[in-house]
Formats: sequence, C-alpha cells, structure tokens
Amino acid sequence: MDSLDAAAEKPNEEGSELPVSYKEFLESTHPSVLRTISDMWVVQDNSASADRRAIVTYDLRLHCQTCEGERTFRCEDSRVFSMRTTTADFNLSYKCGDCHVEHKFYSLYAEFGEGTSGRLYKYGELPPFGVPVPNKVLRLFGKDSKLFQKGRQCENLGYGVAAFAYYRRVVENHKNDIFEEIIKVCRTVHAPEGVITELEQAKKEIAFTKAIEAIKSALPQGLLINGHNPLLALHGALSVGLHDESDEECLAAAQAVRLVLTDLVEKIATLKQENKQLNEAVQFLLRKKS
Ligand SMILES: [Zn+2]
Repeated sequence: MDSLDAAAEKPNEEGSELPVSYKEFLESTHPSVLRTISDMWVVQDNSASADRRAIVTYDLRLHCQTCEGERTFRCEDSRVFSMRTTTADFNLSYKCGDCHVEHKFYSLYAEFGEGTSGRLYKYGELPPFGVPVPNKVLRLFGKDSKLFQKGRQCENLGYGVAAFAYYRRVVENHKNDIFEEIIKVCRTVHAPEGVITELEQAKKEIAFTKAIEAIKSALPQGLLINGHNPLLALHGALSVGLHDESDEECLAAAQAVRLVLTDLVEKIATLKQENKQLNEAVQFLLRKKS
C-alpha cells in the first residue's frame, strides 16, 4: 500500500455524528467508517491492578448462512489493554451459538475515550457485511445475478449511487421475468382474470415503471407486503433520480429495491409451495374416496 492509499484508508474525521452502541456498530454499520461508540470498553475488575480495560465483546445478532437466519453470535476472544494505551488494532472472532459452525471475523481499530466510550473503525469483516442475497432471487436474474451481487456489495459499502444503478439495471433487464413469475402465481392461486390480463398488458411496456403504472387491479393477498402492493413500492424506489438525488437517498432507494424484490420473490415461492401442498392434499383425499 503506497502512502496515498494509506491516507485514503486511514480512519478519517466524520464530524460530530451521534454515538452508536458497540452492538449497533458491529451488527449494522458497514466497514470503512469511524464511529463514536457509547459503550466500547470496561475496566478489567479481575486484574490485580485496575489499570487494564477490556473491549466489551457483547453477543451479536447476525445472519448465519448455515442456520439460514438471524442467530446469536458469541465472541471467542477477549481483548484487554493497558489504561495507558490510547489506540489499538485487533481482530475479533464470533461464533454462531446455534450451529457452532459459522464464524464472523472483524478487523478493528479503536481509540479509547472517556468513561466507557471510544471510537471504532471497521477495516473489514468476513463473511462480508450485510445479509447475502437469497439464491431464489439470484436464480430469477440468471447471468445478471452477478450484477445484482455487485449491487449488494456496493450497498454494503454505502455506495448508494452505484448500488442503485446496478439494481435498476438488473430489474429493468428482467422486467419480463418478474412479471411472468407474478402472472404464474396469479394463475396458480386462481386470481381474477382481470388482474392477469392487466399484468399481461403491462408486461409489454418497455420500462418497468411504466409497466407498473399500467396495473390498476389488486394483486393476490399473499403477495402484498403489510397490505401494500409490492410493485407500487418498487415503482416508488425505482423512480429515484440517479442524477439529482444524494448518495444517501440513492442508498435508501437501493436498499428498498432489494428488500421489496427479495420479499416478493419469497412470497411467490411460498404461494407456489402452499398451492402444491394443497393440491397434494386434495389428490390424497380424492384417492381415499375412490
Ligand atoms: Zn448458525
């Protein structure tokens, strides 16, 4: 790393932002930012002299790839420093409390402050920050799934404009696939013919947002997100102007696109599965009767 890179990588002043908790920083703050931490360390009581302090290493709630969901992760390390130490670099290893298989590694830089506070900088983490994109979603996008994952990486790093651009491109390219999946599920659950006709018509629109505007009928209940039409939510998020919105706004829109899309794909899969099970149950009963 040359000196220019080193300067760019070094923790930089972030201004006077509000302190966050240790848990919040490790669980939900992306790498490469320096944050004030309200509860970073405690005085080490059990040492002979009280001149040592330990990093708190509280339990974390993180996504576990083995358990396929959020689980409690426990720290396997203790990091103790002299009270005279003002800054430190260290790694922490956490392990899933359920499967005892999945690990999470953090590489951190700490500046000790007054009381229990301080500042932390996350050099990086493994597996990378953020919940990975489910395979169901990636399958829908075929060879563009790599672009979608790049979008996820940008989102993880807080690169809003880039994340949004990747997601929008993939969603626009796969408008037909998304619509076909919804049409298929509408047929499966015997949605009113009017909805299906409208979806078929809308699919012909070139732009995704235009296609969504063409739909006036209600989608099947099972596809709604807290009672809202996921397509309208996607429309709102995709309408963000890449050229005039701030990076933060693009990041929020990118996150909304990913979350709504993920939820939609999962709901489609659930409806298909429920219908399959229902059909099997009916077939079973019919066989019994005959
Ligand atoms: Zn696990």
